[in-house]
Formats: sequence, structure tokens, C-alpha cells
Amino acid sequence: MKDFEVRGVRRNGRVEYAVYNGSTNERESGFYTGRPLAESYCDTLNRDKKKREATTKRKCMCCGNTFLSEGIHNRLCRNCGHNGLGKEMIDPCTLQR
Ligand SMILES: [Zn+2]
Repeated sequence: MKDFEVRGVRRNGRVEYAVYNGSTNERESGFYTGRPLAESYCDTLNRDKKKREATTKRKCMCCGNTFLSEGIHNRLCRNCGHNGLGKEMIDPCTLQR
């Protein structure tokens, strides 16, 4: 899988820059008049891509659902990680009607 890259494109008589997917040749951004703007967006996309490639599928220790883990420290799915802890502290019988 190739990285995203900035390409210059001639539009309306001037050169503008856009970010392209090096693998699919699809355009991933709008057109920028300045190359640095396109490059900073391109960097963001490439960073995100590396992050995605570093994630692995893991089974949640709480509910058993498979989820995309950010690393060995990440053992709870998004749902349980945010809402799971302390859930058992809330007794539904004490909730007011
Ligand atoms: Zn879970």
C-alpha cells in the first residue's frame, strides 16, 4: 500500500495541488492553491494510515466483541472502555421513575 502524495494539477490556467492516494490514484482532498497546505493535509492522512495499520483486531475482555485495538494496552472495546467501568455500581432498582 503506497502512501498518500501531493500532486500538482493544472486547473483554470494555474497549478493547484491536491492529495492523491498513491495506490488507487484517487483524489483524497480538495484543490489547494498552495503546496504547503496540501502537504500538511497529506502528512495527516499518512499519519492516520500508519496508525490504522498499527491497530489490530482484538477481543474485548468485557463483552467479547471484536474491535480495533490501538495496542496491547487497549483491551476493552469503545463501548465498554467508556461505559463499562462502574456500570455495576448503578443499581437499576434505585433509579427514579
Ligand atoms: Zn466490550
